[in-house]
Amino acid sequence: MSELYQLSIHQAHKLLKQKDISSVELTKSVLEHIAAVESNVQAYITITEGIALREAKEADSYIASGDITPLTGIPALIKDVICTQGIRTTCGSKMLENFVPPYDATVIKKLKAQRMIMLGKANMDEFAMGSSTENSAFFPTHNPWSLSRVPGGSSGGSAAAVAADEAIYALGSDTGGSIRQPAGFCNVVGFKPTYGRVSRFGLVAFASSLDQIGPITKDVTDCALVMNTIAAHDRRDSTSVPYPVPDYTQQLIHGLKGLRIGIPREYLVEGMQSEVRTTLEIAIKKLEELGAEIDWGASLPSTEYALAVYYILAPSEASANLARYDGVKYGFSEQNASAAIEAAEKTRQFGFGPEVKRRIMLGTYALSAGYYDAYYLKAQKVRTLIKRDFDQAFEKYDALVTPTSPTVAFKLGEKIEDPMQMYLSDVCTLPINIAGLPAISIPAGFADNLPVGMQIIGKPFNEETILHVAFAYEQATDWHKRRPPI
Ligand code: GLN
Repeated sequence: MSELYQLSIHQAHKLLKQKDISSVELTKSVLEHIAAVESNVQAYITITEGIALREAKEADSYIASGDITPLTGIPALIKDVICTQGIRTTCGSKMLENFVPPYDATVIKKLKAQRMIMLGKANMDEFAMGSSTENSAFFPTHNPWSLSRVPGGSSGGSAAAVAADEAIYALGSDTGGSIRQPAGFCNVVGFKPTYGRVSRFGLVAFASSLDQIGPITKDVTDCALVMNTIAAHDRRDSTSVPYPVPDYTQQLIHGLKGLRIGIPREYLVEGMQSEVRTTLEIAIKKLEELGAEIDWGASLPSTEYALAVYYILAPSEASANLARYDGVKYGFSEQNASAAIEAAEKTRQFGFGPEVKRRIMLGTYALSAGYYDAYYLKAQKVRTLIKRDFDQAFEKYDALVTPTSPTVAFKLGEKIEDPMQMYLSDVCTLPINIAGLPAISIPAGFADNLPVGMQIIGKPFNEETILHVAFAYEQATDWHKRRPPI
């Protein structure tokens, strides 16, 4: 039999329910595996071993009395941008290095109600700004498939940990691709829900009109199970939407007969690695074999503006959101100053890393009186055009399929000196946040022995259809079963 730490949520649930294993055994197995491989992967900022073991014991007593749900007693890792009561939440930043939130994010409350086991907090790019996890103020995370490569970002800790079996599942956050891109680089499933589907209450804000929390899991079934728990209307998040939430496991069905899938040609971008393209084409043929009608001629003409729009809107929102870190309210504070204004300046000078500062400057510039119309307002208008492209495409198609990233995982250090190159690694994922749509990345093959992700994009609040496509593909292939040689 395989080791307990290798189990998926649904496999572990079955064994827990039959009382073949206990949550304490499962949790210990994962913790021991973390101890064995973490020095290579470095996915965790904080490991909450004591809390995990205590929660596992409690979960076992509930299970003994027959009180069990699909997530009960299953160990999870949480990206360090999601507030956890009593557990340090750093956002990968020196600014919040010692910040201990006095409350739980709504998603954490929901998972705790199912008796999740908290393994700890995952490494990430500072304030979720980045595509490689190299912008963490603490240390970079390594891709378990090749330790000299990045795991992607900004949820690189979450994705690397799930891939390396250092967690049964994880939560990430996605503003422009930060769940899907690292999931693609690490051969796991990463899901960005429709904007408004999952509460952002307790998610430290980066770009509020783009941010969403979502699961990173070993397979599509697990993804549906986590979504069943975290998707819900929340009065505490005014952008959360009061639509009914379906049972996402109901749509995990085989075959794709009658489904219309468009392949937007703008996404087979120039500069795309040819092996990634070939791998994706083979994956799309598989969808066709499964009964889907594929249209290779789909088009989203405004795609070429998405990167520019994102890098005006996201930094603009970030510059406003990050104004709160002034050394007075909470977080890092540099008091070696003669006046309040100087203290705030020094706090921000020493507390933020270079990428965060770059974004604040970009955003402040785009929002300033003389440039607002030329940049911010213009970007908002183009945002509407990008959204309209998708609306029109979805009149013809049930789902759209693209690569998750134009390349496989790149080398640590390869792009860190060149922000523009780094930004380009999200060209395929950011338009989806701009339009507020749901999208998933699933394992779709290998190029140069490194994982390739396939992105499936759906209509707003129609998460079911993409889970259906993802599940049917997964069941017909073995990619998701491959494990890194760690
Ligand atoms: N890589 C993109 C950025 O740096 C997206 C990040 C994210 O989704 N949080 O902004």
